[in-house]
Amino acid sequence: MNDILPPEIHIWQTLEQSLRFICTRFGFEEIRTPVLEQTALFKRGVGEDTDIVEKEMYSFTDKGGENISLRPEGTASVVRSLVENSWFRANPVTKLYYIGPMYRYERPQKGRFRQFNQFGIELLGVQDSTADVEVIALMDMLLQMFKLENVELHLSSIGCDVCRPPYKKILIKELEKIKDQLPQDFLPRIQTNPQRVFDLKDENAKKLSENLPVLMDHLCPECANHFDGVKKGLTVLQIPFVIDPKIVRGLDYYTKTAFEFVSSDLGAQSTVCGGGRYDKLVEQFGGPATPAVGFGMGLERFVLILQEKGYNVPTNMEVSVVYDEAAKDTAFTLSHSLRAHGFKVDIDLQSKNIKNQLKRADKVGSLASIVIGSQELGSNTVMLKDMKAHDQKAIPADIKTVIEELNQILRRIKRD
Ligand code: ATP
Ligand code: MG
Repeated sequence: MNDILPPEIHIWQTLEQSLRFICTRFGFEEIRTPVLEQTALFKRGVGEDTDIVEKEMYSFTDKGGENISLRPEGTASVVRSLVENSWFRANPVTKLYYIGPMYRYERPQKGRFRQFNQFGIELLGVQDSTADVEVIALMDMLLQMFKLENVELHLSSIGCDVCRPPYKKILIKELEKIKDQLPQDFLPRIQTNPQRVFDLKDENAKKLSENLPVLMDHLCPECANHFDGVKKGLTVLQIPFVIDPKIVRGLDYYTKTAFEFVSSDLGAQSTVCGGGRYDKLVEQFGGPATPAVGFGMGLERFVLILQEKGYNVPTNMEVSVVYDEAAKDTAFTLSHSLRAHGFKVDIDLQSKNIKNQLKRADKVGSLASIVIGSQELGSNTVMLKDMKAHDQKAIPADIKTVIEELNQILRRIKRD
């Protein structure tokens, strides 16, 4: 679990602002749900046979004897909340996003942590492939916004209740044939969750899985048709993608479209964002039959890419108010007033001498300084210094003049 301190926090804040901004553009509204839920929710929603539920959850019994878990992902909670609040009656189509910490007991490494943050969106109530395209398009626009070019969209379809069972039979049959070459701990999964074979990290298993049948070649007409719609929609918006039939999402609730955004800047933990359709989950949670599609994006991995690209956010102060002891009250009054007018103002709190205060002004990156000594006090003026051009002039001390003159300097420097 990480601490995030300045200056790294500035990247986080910029990213979070951009996420909110982009969601607003697409008409997605925020939902906030608790980080603690009943363990049963994830067993039911994410699936008992998944890595997340089997090995990765922080679960414990609370003082009231309830079995609860720190949320490992966001979708189950969102759907629970909507069903609990009888949301769908009034809102057959819903577009929501969330940003917040998730918890998984994994082996920590680059891009993989035990507390990590996810941004996710959920579009509920639309069966048409336009919805799949809409959520993918939002993620694509986010990448464009940060000019991230080395991220590829991988696309697949993992079918539905109609095409998956017969395919599963075919796959199980093939797996039984190569059983003794597969990792020991995978064997119990052959019957329950055979598609996980495509997610094995073992090199030999990876090679073997290349010759196994994939669901994409066994889609029912409805799923095949839907998948065509997604591909066409993406092509219309000129969003490039590669077909990747080996995508296996680590959560049970997915149907039809599955996708991942994969970065070549990240090393082993290369998936920045994973998502897909989950048409059965709302019903499974006791709500009305409601098709849905969404994704979860890892903020740590996104920040890592930005850092790797040398992205940094300038955090300069705009003005330093510099004073000597006699002018202290005037200086603090002016500083307070400038802050109230929206300026980023630094003022020394330790009564250093003027020379040291000016050094500090440079250090915090102020573009201008306002110096008030006894001389300025006597003539009711302040000395305005342009820190970039290194010139200075005395101006009247009234707030209106100070603001006008300051704005001239800031506008000029920001323009240059
Ligand atoms: P992975 O295959 O890397 O374990 P996943 O399939 O378990 O990913 P999802 O459950 O789809 O991941 O979560 C969506 C995104 O959240 C991932 O693509 C990744 O960016 C991020 N993520 C998942 N687990 C972690 C983690 N332990 N630490 C940091 N980010 C994570
Ligand atoms: Mg995982």
